[in-house]
Parts: sequence; C-alpha cells; structure tokens
Amino acid sequence: RIRSRIISSTWRSLLPQISSNKFSTHSERKLEGKVAVITGAASGIGKESAAKFISHGAKVIVADIHRQLGQQTASELGDNATFVPCDVTKESDVSDLVDFAISKHGQLDIMYNNAGVACRTPLSIVDIDLAQFDRVMAINVRGVMAGIKHAARVMIPRGSGCILCTGSVTGVMGGLAQPTYSTTKSCVIGIVRSMTAQLCKNGIRINCISPFAIPTAFSLDEMREYFPGVVPEDLTKMLHNTSELKGAYCEPIDVANAALFLASEDAKFISGQNLVVDGGFTSFKSLNLSQQVQERS
Ligand code: NAD
Repeated sequence: RIRSRIISSTWRSLLPQISSNKFSTHSERKLEGKVAVITGAASGIGKESAAKFISHGAKVIVADIHRQLGQQTASELGDNATFVPCDVTKESDVSDLVDFAISKHGQLDIMYNNAGVACRTPLSIVDIDLAQFDRVMAINVRGVMAGIKHAARVMIPRGSGCILCTGSVTGVMGGLAQPTYSTTKSCVIGIVRSMTAQLCKNGIRINCISPFAIPTAFSLDEMREYFPGVVPEDLTKMLHNTSELKGAYCEPIDVANAALFLASEDAKFISGQNLVVDGGFTSFKSLNLSQQVQERS
C-alpha cells in the first residue's frame, strides 16, 4: 500500500507540470527575447518569416546579397530588423554575419539558412552545364553548410539553439524541377539529417522546411523563361493551379508559420525533420504513381 501511495503521489506531482505545459501562455509571442538570423530575407519566404518572427517578439538580422532590397526590407520591418549584406558563398560573409548578431544582440538563438537560387541550365542530363551546377551548389548547399558551421560555432558553447534550412519538394521527389536545382535541395535535406546527431548532443535542434511552389521573385523569374510573354498575374495563377489541396495554394506565410513553429518552444523536442509544406502533394503524387504501377502490372 505504501508503494502505491508513493507512486500515486509521484504521479500527482507530475500532473501540475503536464497541465501547465498544456495551457502554457507562450502562444501569443512565441519568440520573445530571441535573436534570429535569416539569409535570403530581402524578399519572398525569408522576408515573410522575418516579419512573422518579429511579430512574435524576435529581433531579426535580415541577411541578403541584394543590398538595396535588403535595406528596404529591414526599414519596412521596423526597429527589430537590421540588414546585413551577405553573400552566402563567401564564408567570411557568413562568419561576419553571425559575429554581427552576437555583437549587436549578445546571442544567436535561431539561424535560418534560407537563401537559394533556381538553376537555368538545360533539363537534359547530357546538356547540364557543370559550371552552373557548381554555382548553384555554392549558394544552395555550401551556403547552407557555412550557415550551420558558423551558427554552431556560437551555439555550441551556450548548449542551445535552433537551425532551420530551406529545402524544397523538388528535393523530396525527383522529376519536379531542373535536376541541378533538385539535387541541391536533396543535399539540404541530407545535410540536416547528417548534422542532427552532432548538434543534438550540444542541445541544438536542426530542421528543414520543404515548400511547394510559391510565386516569389525566384519562381516567377524561372517561369518567365519557360512561358515568355505571359504576365506575372497569369504565371501566379498557373503556379497556384498546381496545388493538389482543394481551395488552397502555397504562400510565403505557410512557410513562415512552419518556421515559427519549428523555431519556437512548441517544437522543443523536434529535430532532424523535414517539414514538407506542400498541401499533400508529395504523398499524394507518389501514391498515385504507385497506383498507376499496380494498375499497369
Ligand atoms: P526569393 O527570390 O524571393 O528569395 C531568395 C533570396 O535569396 C533573394 O532575396 C536573393 O537576393 C537571396 N540570395 C540569392 N543568392 C544569395 C546569396 N548568394 N547570398 C545571400 N542571399 C542570396 O525566393 P524565395 O522563393 O523566397 O526563395 C527562398 C528559398 O525558398 C530558396 O532557398 C528557394 O530555393 C526556396 N524555395 C522556393 C520555392 C518557391 O516556389 N518559391 C519552393 C521551394 C523552395
């Protein structure tokens, strides 16, 4: 009887913790007091994520190669945003970026490696331009690696931190995009997986977010090449129509919400994952493919 009393009192002592977790009040401003660096934040997904993080109490370093746009974005976002010019292909820029966050705010809590470019070399493997391949790998893959390296440098001594990387549905499924681009995005998903063990041991979470097609400067520029003469509004509609989820299409805010979740305490036990923001596309399409295979055999 004594043993069962001890056990039940142990359980009772746990109950308040469970309920306080459940009803915790950090839902309003989920990043209060946090410092985030976001690369490629002058526009699109990065800009939307910066705005979302700031609205939840974070101070954000807007890092981008595009100086004028980066400066303009930081001014739009207000006092909690600071622009730092950064070319992610230059390790010294990435290192200086992280050091800037520390010297300005004293800490780095969230590093979001989001900068990326499309690839315009021919689709056929026999015609792939390897110089272009190297260029896109340098931005989309090496740039992400540099971001992880320098964020880890300052996060490991603190024993905490959160790293996010932008992948893509094209890194999850082959055949959706130009192969050089989708190769780089597969690499990003792989980097996140391979870094998780080391970072976990140091209290740092790392996750990837893989968005579906969104009409941003990045995707619209690429589409303009395939559909010359089509106006941006129609290109946007074309991209929206590729959604498989009835009544919805992918927008920067969907990715920003995923980033907020992963960066916040709500995801305190989530690491090494690839959160695919695609309205079911990759599951559904691969299911369809396997159905087709079954039907044809
Ligand atoms: P975007 O063009 O609006 O933003 C990309 C930003 O990266 C730009 O501001 C650009 O100046 C910056 N950038 C480019 N090269 C850089 C470099 N060397 N150093 C620093 N900054 C650099 O496009 P976006 O759609 O917001 O793209 C953001 C990320 O999302 C990219 O990694 C992209 O691959 C990924 N993504 C986009 C889509 C989509 O359909 N838009 C889908 C899946 C993944």
